Amino acid sequence: MGVHTWIEGWPVYRQLTGDDPTGRGAAAKSPATAHRTARTRTADKVVPSVCPYCAVGCGQSVYVQDGRVTQIEGDPDSPVSRGRLCPKGAASLQLTTGPAREHHALYRRPHGSRWERIDLVTAMDMIADRVVEARRKGWQWAADGLRTRRTLGIASLGGATLDNEENYLIKKLFTALGAVQIENQARI
Ligand code: SF4
Repeated sequence: MGVHTWIEGWPVYRQLTGDDPTGRGAAAKSPATAHRTARTRTADKVVPSVCPYCAVGCGQSVYVQDGRVTQIEGDPDSPVSRGRLCPKGAASLQLTTGPAREHHALYRRPHGSRWERIDLVTAMDMIADRVVEARRKGWQWAADGLRTRRTLGIASLGGATLDNEENYLIKKLFTALGAVQIENQARI
C-alpha cells in the first residue's frame, strides 16, 4: 500500500479533506462497519416515550422490531430535549432488554439477607395489608383542637415519568385514604 493510499484510508484525513467535516458519516466508516445496517433502519415501528431516569423527562424514540425493543434514541420532536439524551438516557435500552432486568416480584423478609421470588397476587395482597395497617396506626382524628381525620402513617412520592392521568389517580387514591403527604419528583 502506498503512503498516499494509506493516508487516504485514515479517518482524520478523510474528515479533514472530504465532505464529512464532523466525522459522523463516511469519514468514520471502516471496512468492518461499511456494511452494517443501523437498527433504526430495520425497525417495524417507532414509539414515542419519555426517559424514565430523571425529572427532566427527555423525549425518546423507541425502535421496535418483531415485538422487541431494539434501539432507543432521542426524540427530535420533544420540546424538552430536542433529540438529545444524556448517557443514562442513551443507555436505557439496557433497562428494557438487559439481563439485569427483573421480571418477577421479589421479597426480602425483615432481617433477611436474600430476595425471595413471590407471585404477583401475593405481593399485591402484602402491599394492601401494609397500607391498611399503616393507615390505621397513623390515623389522627384531631390535632391542636381541630378535627383532622387524616393519617400520617403513609405518604406518596411519585416518580419522574408518572403522567398527568397517573398522578391524578394517585392523588385521588391517597387523599381518599386520608394521606396528606403526597408529592411528586417531576418538574414538567
Ligand atoms: S436522558 Fe438523562 S437528563 Fe434526560 S430524562 Fe433521561 S436521565 Fe434525565
